[in-house]
Amino acid sequence: MSSLPQSVHIVFIPLLAQGHMIPMVDMVRIFASRGAVATIYTTPVNAHRFRTTVDRSSELGMPIRLVEIPFPCKEVGLPVGYENLDILPSPELLAKFYDAMGKLQKPIEKHLREQTPAPSCIISDRYIFWSSETAQRFGIPRFVFHAMGCFSVLSAHNVKHSNCSDSVTSDMEPFEVPGMPKGFKITKAQLPGNFVRQQDFEVFRGKMQEAEMAAQGVLFNSFDELEHGCVEAYQKTIGKRVWCIGPVSLCNKDESDMFQRGNEASSDAEKCMVWLDSMKPRSVIYACLGTLCRLAPSQLMELGRGLGASQQPFVWVIKRGEGDSELENWLMEERFEERVKGRGIVIRGWAPQVAILSHRAIGGFLTHCGWNSTLEGVCSALPMITWPLFAEQFVNEALVVEILRIGVRVGAKVPVRWGEERKVGVLVRGDEIARAINALVSGDEEGEERRKRAAELGQKARQAMQEGGSSHSNVSRVLQYIMAGPTQEVV
Ligand code: UDP
Repeated sequence: MSSLPQSVHIVFIPLLAQGHMIPMVDMVRIFASRGAVATIYTTPVNAHRFRTTVDRSSELGMPIRLVEIPFPCKEVGLPVGYENLDILPSPELLAKFYDAMGKLQKPIEKHLREQTPAPSCIISDRYIFWSSETAQRFGIPRFVFHAMGCFSVLSAHNVKHSNCSDSVTSDMEPFEVPGMPKGFKITKAQLPGNFVRQQDFEVFRGKMQEAEMAAQGVLFNSFDELEHGCVEAYQKTIGKRVWCIGPVSLCNKDESDMFQRGNEASSDAEKCMVWLDSMKPRSVIYACLGTLCRLAPSQLMELGRGLGASQQPFVWVIKRGEGDSELENWLMEERFEERVKGRGIVIRGWAPQVAILSHRAIGGFLTHCGWNSTLEGVCSALPMITWPLFAEQFVNEALVVEILRIGVRVGAKVPVRWGEERKVGVLVRGDEIARAINALVSGDEEGEERRKRAAELGQKARQAMQEGGSSHSNVSRVLQYIMAGPTQEVV
């Protein structure tokens, strides 16, 4: 473990959602392994998910403090225990959830005042806009963490600040995203920001933007070689330091770190790892659609049909809250698990995704293109079957399929809105899913080239995180910036 010449104390404040907390905990471990004291604030339910990981890192000598602040559910009218976005049953509770997050500011500041060494920098999620005020109060710099890729953040910015979509006659007509180092098209329907219908979100978005403008820089869980010039372009656009410091999931090197990442693994997971040991290298498709979107049972049945029809070995993750009685009845009536025995396995609950993706038996990833999943697929050198659901996932799909050329689309055209999944029903049919899987595993020239590109990209991802690599060097730059003190020039 490297040590810093002076006491650097970095404070991490994540958004309480798995896709944001998981990479931030990895970041905590990366900075702590370079000698910084790292404090991460969270709430009891979330701390429970990460405690083992943090304890193991502390035992290895990393100076990490995991601080639990009670989540004021009662105060804002949320049911007790609703401390993570993946627990909220409906978007109607979102405003209360953000309200409760805002109420963490005071207790966090109180706790910070009592800390030695005093905090020297805040790295907080983009959603935690109030931490900008906290940083000013303590006279320390703040870096914004975007839990998305720079490619999608730059795309969203460029679409917003241009009239590029004015000429299209429908929400389904593709238009070119301007100002991108490598061009691509998208439709209005697929633009980020379509996940939730929420009236107050514009006000919230404004506050996040203001806080980003006041920050000293922006950090991405990504690596320069993946972003194809977007980092430089975004840096120029916002006039601030923009540093890629990932893929952060690569800090999970030993099996326990990979297996216990983000939550307690489902009891099906051990069985799955043993089964994978018995499978041929690069033969199994891993299908997991993230932590937030709970698709309609009819849509999940189509996914089951597609996996069944493809004839390819598979692991299918059904998350908690999705495996409701309608889907379970279908699985039983169809004798699904019996029929696919030996060829397919279902994990109900939390899958140790990074451990599974790193297994030599996995040959493809059917993903919703959440940014973390996309990067984790890249790290494992996997070609991907892309099924974007919402938020910036259609942009990530364009990156994977058109720019990186390591993916095959299932053909999703419009996003699924949170809370409206059942209304939408089936958007992607089983036969389309089977077709995409078969195209991905195909031994033809296109399939081989795709696998080759995925292998090369995986190699670049690992190099970025090694000493001398782009992301490793960027972590050093962040640390140097912090050590130079608060009077340093911003740009
Ligand atoms: N994840 C996991 N096991 C699961 C589901 C998800 O480990 O069963 C992890 C996954 O590895 C990733 C994160 O949860 O790190 C999900 O983030 P992503 O950005 O891909 O999607 P989101 O859930 O935010 O839509």
